[in-house]
Amino acid sequence: MSKLIAANWKQNGSSLEVDNLTREIIKGAKKLKNLNNLILIPPSVYLERVSKLIKKSSVSKRISLGVQNISPYKNGAYTGEISADMCKDFDCKYFIVGHSERRETFNEDSVMISKKVLSVLNTSQKIILCIGETLNQREKKQARKVIANQIKSGLSLLTPKMRRTASKIIIAYEPVWAIGTGKTPSLQDIFLMHKHIIEISAKIFITNRSIPKILYGGSVNSENSNEILSIQGVDGALVGGASLNAKKFIDICRSI
Ligand code: PEP
Repeated sequence: MSKLIAANWKQNGSSLEVDNLTREIIKGAKKLKNLNNLILIPPSVYLERVSKLIKKSSVSKRISLGVQNISPYKNGAYTGEISADMCKDFDCKYFIVGHSERRETFNEDSVMISKKVLSVLNTSQKIILCIGETLNQREKKQARKVIANQIKSGLSLLTPKMRRTASKIIIAYEPVWAIGTGKTPSLQDIFLMHKHIIEISAKIFITNRSIPKILYGGSVNSENSNEILSIQGVDGALVGGASLNAKKFIDICRSI
């Protein structure tokens, strides 16, 4: 199975920087023949230009576009929000939901996150549901419980039909204490948490024994990506800081 690498650029860059970064990544991707599943997730104001650069490249089938945030509503009087349908105009296929920065800085709670999940799944697009424990929760040995609750509540509004297949759902395990800190869990800890996520998901998607793809995120860089991406149960990586440097990011992609 080909691994999936997603680049979350967060609130970084200018149009010029985003163009250069996209061009450099496209150039690097051309040389990596087994890289079939790359997702670029720029700030939303730059979706159109990144979409155009991807479309006119020879690797347009191997690179997709994602969005960092999404409205829980279909359309209407929701100032500042954008919908999954609007993003279809730029061929956006993936939406990050539940990133810890949105949970913490923008106070998104589990109800809001479950509504956002549903608003994407009501379209043909896919979600990347981020989950992860804080350092405090980890130290209190609550990590497994927190992760279980975040998956269950995030997917709580799925209809019985949506529960038949997990093909539109990607889960990103991102320990909050590992994001942007240079710290990562041990390889064994990542393996055990992904196994835990698989077990919980298996209870949600009962019918076809369909399991979401599970990414690891949190300080992935070109030095640790090889080991992390070789762990059983890790289907790819969600990369923040290191995805802002094309060379470092392509080095990560080389590990798959
Ligand atoms: C993230 O924020 O999704 C992330 C993984 O960030 P970083 O790679 O910088 O830790």
